[in-house]
Amino acid sequence: MNGDKIKSVAIIGGTHGNELTGVRLVEHYQSHPTEVKRSSFSTQLILANPMAIQKGTRYVEKDLNRCFASASLNQANPNILEVCRAQEINQILGPKGSANCCDFIVDIHNSTACMGFSLIISRLDPMLTSLCASLWRKEPQLFKLYLMPESSGDAPYLPTISKRDLCLEIGDQAHGTVRADFYIRAKQCIAEILDFTEKWNTNRLTTPQELEVPLYQQWKNIDYPRRPDGSPAAMIAPNLQFKDYQPLHYGEPLFIDYSGNTTLWEGQTVYPVFINEHAYYEKSIAMSLTHQIKKTITTYDI
Ligand SMILES: [Zn+2]
Repeated sequence: MNGDKIKSVAIIGGTHGNELTGVRLVEHYQSHPTEVKRSSFSTQLILANPMAIQKGTRYVEKDLNRCFASASLNQANPNILEVCRAQEINQILGPKGSANCCDFIVDIHNSTACMGFSLIISRLDPMLTSLCASLWRKEPQLFKLYLMPESSGDAPYLPTISKRDLCLEIGDQAHGTVRADFYIRAKQCIAEILDFTEKWNTNRLTTPQELEVPLYQQWKNIDYPRRPDGSPAAMIAPNLQFKDYQPLHYGEPLFIDYSGNTTLWEGQTVYPVFINEHAYYEKSIAMSLTHQIKKTITTYDI
């Protein structure tokens, strides 16, 4: 029933050096490797950007999680630290797009937005969608399925060098800090993912159930209103703060400026995410807008 078996899994932390849930988890697993060992596949552990982790910053020269498109991976004699590191990681877990690449990468991130445990995938692979929907079935308030389709088939994100990419985006947590409640739940989540993969490989998944699962599909990013010097001319409206994945309807406030004037949303109903994400101020993103779609997916007991 399960199609391809998963032979190799990689768990990645520290793709962004100041997102500490993944950094602390991977460090922990490196000294307790049996916790991530299963019989039917190999598990690799990687701290993706050690220099940024050491400095406590998102990146040193360039956002590592924008260095995995083919042009970066194939660039000759790169002189940017993160491009060099991306090429190294592509040697270990890729090469991207090849038959030999890793079967499944889980890349652990944090957000300052109220993302809960967002399961971000770029492809509707049967195993991956079933895994994510099964996590959602177990705890629908915590898990959100976020589909970010690769329009070009060549996204710049680290896990896209594998056959199945899952970015676990956990928030809200301030960058450079760790919340124990998230760390504990993330460790449980990694165990659930590995156990599901093991059962998928060995046909031991139980209690199948077809469920209509809400899936949030990336539509577009929107920026803050900007002053002539480029600084934000307004803030996220208070009704939106920490309201990720909740509907934003026509006519509701979107931004508020420092005098109290609001900008209203004048489009169809959308579901904003990454609202007020700290790391996206430099990327000119105030939030990402998604559409909620429903998809019937086979789920199992986790
Ligand atoms: Zn990140």
